[in-house]
Amino acid sequence: MVYFVGAGPGDVDLITVKGRKLLEKADVIIYAGSLVSSEHLKFCREDAIIIDSSRLTLEEIIEYIRKYDGEDKVIVRLHTGDPTIYGAIGEQMDQMDKLGIKYEIIPGVSSFTASCSVLKKEFTVPKISQSIIITRLSGRTSVPESEDLELLAKHKASMAIFLSVQDIDKVVEKLIKGYEDENVPVAVVYKATWKDEKIILGTLKDIAEKVKSVGINKTAQILVGEFLKKSSRSLLYSKNFSHGFREAKE
Ligand code: SAH
Repeated sequence: MVYFVGAGPGDVDLITVKGRKLLEKADVIIYAGSLVSSEHLKFCREDAIIIDSSRLTLEEIIEYIRKYDGEDKVIVRLHTGDPTIYGAIGEQMDQMDKLGIKYEIIPGVSSFTASCSVLKKEFTVPKISQSIIITRLSGRTSVPESEDLELLAKHKASMAIFLSVQDIDKVVEKLIKGYEDENVPVAVVYKATWKDEKIILGTLKDIAEKVKSVGINKTAQILVGEFLKKSSRSLLYSKNFSHGFREAKE
């Protein structure tokens, strides 16, 4: 049996209880060494087989899985954040379906919600935005034309942009065209919840220079939208609003 486990964004305590229990029990752990903190490994059994997947190809990973699954071992495939977002688990699951290997996915705290949390903000602010767009720039993986950043920006929804900080100039250029405004707030969060976390705040006008001046070119979230600036009171706790548990006072 293989468990795809979300390790969370960085801080090792941000894994789920279910994920941690599986790590403690696993015979084999295949982890993405470049993005998952090696601190997670201190919870593994001393005799567990630990494999760093950062230098392996898909075929090599599948070969390890096939071998150890054949020996009836419990295998944890530890992924950064939540495995269902830019986790490249689809291609692994396809191979496992072909080989008849059983698997389960254990969700995790994604870096986009972790980044919003360290900023002490809420993506969904009443009257500002009630939607979150999760996206990226095209890289080795292309993005469909209909999801181009410029088009998505026109919605003026809250945005979390993954895998793109190395091209911050291009991100900003597309967002300014979409928003038709340079004053939209932007936050870049580097390594949210890690010890070397960095937060850079600005607007579409100045964020690129700020990010480049501190040398951030990977492992960062670019969060964009008015939610970073404004907050407005939620109806849920307003005295004028009735809901299932409380009558309106006025
Ligand atoms: N599955 C992961 C994303 C993997 S793709 C998740 O749910 O978070 C890798 C990208 O995620 C990075 O390029 C970066 O944009 C983002 N990322 C991962 N960890 C991060 C962190 N701790 N802080 C900020 N961004 C992070």
